[in-house]
Amino acid sequence: MSDVHLSGSCLCGSVQYEIAGQDTRFYHCHCERCRKASGAGHASNIILMQAASVTWIAGEDLLRRYNLPEARRFATVFCRECGSPMPRVSAERGVVVIPAGSLDVDPGIRPEARIFDGSRAAWSCRDEIIPRFERYPD
Ligand SMILES: [Zn+2]
Ligand SMILES: [Zn+2]
Repeated sequence: MSDVHLSGSCLCGSVQYEIAGQDTRFYHCHCERCRKASGAGHASNIILMQAASVTWIAGEDLLRRYNLPEARRFATVFCRECGSPMPRVSAERGVVVIPAGSLDVDPGIRPEARIFDGSRAAWSCRDEIIPRFERYPD
């Protein structure tokens, strides 16, 4: 099992982090909670099952955490200034969930599965071949 070293930041740049760890999972999660929290068809999360270190280079004081009351574990952590989802650390489990869109580096791994596909919004992307555009269509 090799170590992965990841770094990222929020939209406004106030929060910056570096995280190292092992034993990764990389999922597109289509569950309703992730859809609401991300505003997108699915969240794309890298999960480090064994986080070795989490370093907040800047902006740790801007982090806000929202624990969904009825959930056993679901929470979101985000920058108070710009609202970007940021990594969330589960201290007791030693697990870190990193929103892949916040990365500033290529993690070198690719999504391995879509999960909670039964909750997928009808319009959300799937694996069918659909037209792809570099930016916006003409
Ligand atoms: Zn920010
Ligand atoms: Zn989810």
